[in-house]
Amino acid sequence: MQKLHEHVSTRQTPQSEAILGKDQVKNTAGGFVFAVDDWIRLDRFLILGTEGGTYYQSEQKITKKNAQAVVRALSVNGQKVVRRVVEISESGRAPKNDPALFVLAMASCLGDEPTRKLAFESLSKVARIGTHLFTFCEYRQAFGGWGRGMRNAVRNWYHEKGTGLAYQLVKYRQRNGWTHRDILRLAHPKVEKDPLKSLYHFAVKGKIEAGVSPVIDGYLKVQNETNYKKIAALVSEHGLTREMIPTEALVSAEVWDALLVNMPMTALIRNLGNLSKVGLLTPMSDAEITVSEKLVNPESVKKSRLHPFSVLQALIIYQSGTGLKGKGQWNPVPKVIEALNKAFYLAFDNVVPANKKTLIGLDVSGSMSWAHLASGIDARTAAAAMAMVTVRTEPAYYTMAFTSQFEQIVLTPNMLLGEVISAMDNLNFDFGRTDCAIPMLWALQNNVPVETFIIYTDNETWTGNIHPVQALNQYRDKMGLASKLIVVGMTSTGFSIADPDDAGMMDVVGFDSSAPAIMADFAR
Ligand code: CA
Repeated sequence: MQKLHEHVSTRQTPQSEAILGKDQVKNTAGGFVFAVDDWIRLDRFLILGTEGGTYYQSEQKITKKNAQAVVRALSVNGQKVVRRVVEISESGRAPKNDPALFVLAMASCLGDEPTRKLAFESLSKVARIGTHLFTFCEYRQAFGGWGRGMRNAVRNWYHEKGTGLAYQLVKYRQRNGWTHRDILRLAHPKVEKDPLKSLYHFAVKGKIEAGVSPVIDGYLKVQNETNYKKIAALVSEHGLTREMIPTEALVSAEVWDALLVNMPMTALIRNLGNLSKVGLLTPMSDAEITVSEKLVNPESVKKSRLHPFSVLQALIIYQSGTGLKGKGQWNPVPKVIEALNKAFYLAFDNVVPANKKTLIGLDVSGSMSWAHLASGIDARTAAAAMAMVTVRTEPAYYTMAFTSQFEQIVLTPNMLLGEVISAMDNLNFDFGRTDCAIPMLWALQNNVPVETFIIYTDNETWTGNIHPVQALNQYRDKMGLASKLIVVGMTSTGFSIADPDDAGMMDVVGFDSSAPAIMADFAR
């Protein structure tokens, strides 16, 4: 008898081949996986961005592919694209707003008329601060000029700010060579009434009468001030921020103390090192209490759209005691580290436990440590930190890591994020090969009853002799369980190990602050 079935089984196919009857594509590592649809791809792009690229693809290449996906989505339903951009951006689900601005710029140029209209109407919702507006203008240059729609949208942006515009003008003064002056000259709004008329005049000419805006008055006064005590007084009196005062004053504890009072949350977590460096944020100081209380206040965390990834970045830098690029040193205050640990979890959407037996599989192969979500944080570390949300929520869980074989990693609810990161850094084995079927195969071999598999990966699996989805189906059959699979994609490629035709599988986007809540809902 010819062993025909051994050559073309749909139960077990090497990852180097497509599963018979399934519409699979080759990933960049050479394995066959499923293609995610353009909407999932849009979400990945909006949330993860493409900065730094992946192990297999340059930033340029991966951005181009994402842009192509956006163009396709725009042609199918442009207004849906815009609504998605607004939703992700406004809710603060993404660590960075730049991809949202980029897609909005694309929609405002390449969409059909209703799409372009909606994109312009949504400008203030996505470009909330001056810097965002500069970035939007910069991105838009790649796709189109300053037509009537663009001019109107920008005029509206300035009008809608009302008297709050003064703050924008002195806090966010320029980015990528763009200034308010450049933009107002292109949009040339006609305003006859004060205070807007005076504010526009100030933006373009740099001059304004005293008394129109307290914050601008303070800004102008502080530029010529060198006495720290007087600078601190101006900060308090006029509500100035760090960006508005001369950088030479940023060595003074007194000045930072004044700034701290109304410091926005994102500014706070970025400046913790500075606060300690100048001797303000020290053990058992008043600042220690102020800062810790701010960081663990659930309302302030939500209101400020503080993203867990930003907290993780801040935590890593602060506890290292050394600034980025070696700029300055400080002694980290333990209470602040503790507060940052709490803030990290507060910054995610609230998670209700699924109460399902959950196996968390972390892809720790080389490509995962190569891909960076931001400088200093690779996809592997980010995945482990995010997995901690589930570890702390689900009563029954097990964590494992894998490359092309099972690797032990012990994560427990009481671990500090610093310990989680060390645990990942201390992994030492062959990182080269990747097989995303390992979590299911391991659970099957060891008779572990799993209701939900959560796999964090870049979906660049290629080495196994069975596809992950086939391993899951074998597991389901032999264990008699309807186990689900959640794939957390950690790079913005178009690949997934999840079969889109299987309702028991789902793709979520890594470091979406809503992801843990979405995952728990799906598991339930
Ligand atoms: Ca890999």
